[in-house]
Amino acid sequence: MPGQRIQRASRTAKLFVVVVCLIIVVLEAWSAWRAYEVAGDEAIRNASNMALALTQHADQSFKEIDVVLLGIQEHMEYDGPGVAGRQRTHDFMVASVAAVPQLASLTVFDEEGLAIGSSQSTLEHRYIQDDYFLHHQRVRTDQAYIGKPMRSRTTGQWIVTMSRRVNHADGSFAGVVVADVDLAHFQRYYEQFAIGRDGAILFGLTEGSVIYRQPLLSDSIGRDLSKSVLLTQYVSKADQGSFEMRSPRDDIVRLTSFQRCSLYPLFVAVALAKDDVLEDWTRRVWIRGVAVLLLLVIIGFGGNRLVAQVAGRENAELEAITARTELERLYRTLEAQSQKDGLTDVFNRRYFDAALTAELARLNRSGESLSLIMVDVDHFKRYNDTYGHAAGDICLRQVAAALNSVARRQGDIVARYGGEEFALILPNCNAASANAISNRLVQAVRALDIPHEGSSVGHVTISVGAASLASGKGAQVDARELIDTADAALYRAKEQGRDRAIQHDYPRLSVIPDYPGLR
Ligand code: GH3
Ligand code: MG
Ligand code: MG
Repeated sequence: MPGQRIQRASRTAKLFVVVVCLIIVVLEAWSAWRAYEVAGDEAIRNASNMALALTQHADQSFKEIDVVLLGIQEHMEYDGPGVAGRQRTHDFMVASVAAVPQLASLTVFDEEGLAIGSSQSTLEHRYIQDDYFLHHQRVRTDQAYIGKPMRSRTTGQWIVTMSRRVNHADGSFAGVVVADVDLAHFQRYYEQFAIGRDGAILFGLTEGSVIYRQPLLSDSIGRDLSKSVLLTQYVSKADQGSFEMRSPRDDIVRLTSFQRCSLYPLFVAVALAKDDVLEDWTRRVWIRGVAVLLLLVIIGFGGNRLVAQVAGRENAELEAITARTELERLYRTLEAQSQKDGLTDVFNRRYFDAALTAELARLNRSGESLSLIMVDVDHFKRYNDTYGHAAGDICLRQVAAALNSVARRQGDIVARYGGEEFALILPNCNAASANAISNRLVQAVRALDIPHEGSSVGHVTISVGAASLASGKGAQVDARELIDTADAALYRAKEQGRDRAIQHDYPRLSVIPDYPGLR
C-alpha cells in the first residue's frame, strides 16, 4: 500500500533524528566517563609520586639526624665520661644542631636517666623515664629508635625524638643519646605541595602515631591511627598502595596513596579530595553538557521540521493518490452511466447500436451465431393513461429487470431501444435458443403480474420478435436489416394478439446473397 509506505517514510525520519540524538548522548557520556577515569588515574599517580618524594625526604631527614646520633654514640663510648670528653661531645652537639636544620636539640642521658650532656648552653639536672629510654634500656640493638610524638618538657611544643642506645665497654646499657626533631622542618616542606582545598598529607609512624599532618589540625600530632582503616588495611599490609575512601571525620571522599619509608618505620599518605581532583572534569562536563544540550535542541528543531516536511510531502502524495482513485472511480461511474439507461438501468440505445455493430462484425469473422430480440410492452399508452406516467416508469423498470433476469449469459446485452421498447443482443445464440428465450421473456413479464386494466388479460404483457443469424462467416449483414427483421416478427406478434413471441420468417432475409446460415 502506498499510504503505508509513505507513513513509513516519516517514521523513518523520526527514528533517524532520535538515533542521531542517542548516538550523540552515548558518545558524550562515554567520553565523559573516559575523562573521569583518566582524571582519577592521574590523581592517583600524582598522589603516589608525592608520597614517594615525601618518604624520601623523611628518610633523608632522619638519616641526617641518625648520622649525628651515631657520632655522639661513638664519642660517648670511646671518649668516656671525662670532663674533656664531655666538652668535646657538647661542642659536637652544638655544631650538629647548627648544621642540621631539622635537628632542634640533642641530649645525652646516663643509665639512670639523668641528663649528662646537651646541645643547650646550660645542662638541666633532670631524670627521664620516657618510652625511648625504656626501649633502649630493654632492647639491646644497634638501631635508632623514633619515639611517639610528645610534648617537650621545656617548651611544651610537640616534638618527635630519635634516639640511640649508648653501651658500656662490656656492652651493658650506659644510657641514651636523643635528638628532638623540629616538626616545622616538615611543615615547611609539605607546604610546597599543591594538594587542593580538601587534600591532606599524613606523616606518621607505621605503628600508628601521627607525626605531622598538612594542613595541621589541633589534634593531629600524636593522634593514634593504629585502629584506622589506613593502618589496619593498608600501611600494615603493604609498602605502598592506593585506595579511595570516605573519611568518617569530615565525610569527604579522598583518593589516598601511601608509601612506607625504606630506612625507618615511617610512612607518608597523600590524600586528594575527589571533588578537588574532579574540579576540572566537573567544569568540563557542565560546559560540554550544556553544549550537547544546545546541539540536541537544534537537532530536535531541525529534525522536527524535517519530519514535518516529510509528513507534508506524504500528505500531499496521499491526497494525490486519493484524488486519483476518486477520479478513476468517477470516470468508471461516468463511463458506466454513459452506457446505461437512466430509468431502467439496462444498456442505452447508443450502447446497443455500437454493440450490435461490433457483434455483427465479430460474427462475420468468427462465423458463429447471433440473435436479436425486440420487445414491446403491450398497450402501454393505456397503462400510462390509467395509472399515470410515474407508475408507467416503475412498470418499465420492472419489465427491464425481468428481461435482465432471463438473459443472463456472459455477453448477453439487454438494452432500452426507446420508449417502452427493449432489445436483446444474444451472441452465440441460434434460432432455436432465441425462440426459447423469447418465450421465457414473455413468461417472465407475465409472472410479474402487474395489474393492467386496459389489457384483455388484466396484467402487463409484452410482445417479442426474434431474428437469428447462423454461420454467417463472410456474410455482409447490415444491422438495420436485422433490426427490421426482428421488428417485423414483433409486429406479427402484435397482430396475432400480443403477449407472445414470434420467430422471424421474413422472406427477405433468406435471399441475402452469401448468407446460407439464415433460415
Ligand atoms: P401497443 O400494444 O400497440 O404497443 O400499444 P402501445 O400503447 O404500447 O403503443 P404506443 O407506441 O402507441 O404507446 C407507447 C407509449 O409508451 C406512449 C408513451 O406514452 C409511453 N412511453 C414511452 N416512453 C415512456 C416512458 O419513458 N415512460 C412512460 N411512463 N411511458 C412511456
Ligand atoms: Mg411501442
Ligand atoms: Mg407498446
